[in-house]
Amino acid sequence: MARQGTVITARRNEVGYFANIWRSARSILEGMAVTFSIMRRPAITVHYPDRLPMPMQDMLPERSRGLLEVDLLCCTGCQACARACPIDVIRMRVGREGKLRLIERFDIDLGKCMYCGLCVDACPVTAQAPGDAETTCAIRFSKEFEGTVTDINAMVYRYVRPGDKVVVAKNKKGMVHDTPPRGQLALEARKLAAQVNPGAIRAIRERLASDPTAGDNPDLTAAFKIPAKPKSKK
Ligand code: SF4
Ligand code: SF4
Repeated sequence: MARQGTVITARRNEVGYFANIWRSARSILEGMAVTFSIMRRPAITVHYPDRLPMPMQDMLPERSRGLLEVDLLCCTGCQACARACPIDVIRMRVGREGKLRLIERFDIDLGKCMYCGLCVDACPVTAQAPGDAETTCAIRFSKEFEGTVTDINAMVYRYVRPGDKVVVAKNKKGMVHDTPPRGQLALEARKLAAQVNPGAIRAIRERLASDPTAGDNPDLTAAFKIPAKPKSKK
């Protein structure tokens, strides 16, 4: 009886051995069938950035959330965007000279922006960029996305150069402002920021470090959220 049991077990092992080989071969064939069927389909991926049929920005949908930009020529200086931003990405200053209201500062710190779009929703201005199917706002997302820099200070895009002033736009009910193609202003601001901002911001920080009274200047401390120096206890 014991010998018969051993023979049956050996036969079972033999059958299991060949069944395993068959299962393995079948699973390899199934996998290769999927591979070969995909090899015949056209690729849906693209080689970025050097082998594109057209610029990547032209391949993106109009509502893409790329770099945020503002067209100051149709901005009314209402500051609704700055108030709507939950993390103080937008820093504005609006002054007055006689009857004129002037935008003296409009910085967007894209290093902090989380692309939520609350500022765009708050903007009351309607603008039309050439070639766009939909209208946009004075502040809007563009299809530009290549904003990588090696110095985080270059991510502060300054739409009003320090010392300049821009007269606010008038916005009548139902008015649609003409505006440049989306992305153009962000590209200009990005180039300027890369050239100017790292050095300028570093200089402000160095001045704050070396001059104990510079921390009292609200323009300097507010400019890049540098904490004001605590007043020494007498
Ligand atoms: S997209 Fe959101 S986080 Fe960025 S500036 Fe606008 S409100 Fe602020
Ligand atoms: S971008 Fe729009 S919301 Fe912001 S200040 Fe200008 S008009 Fe007002």
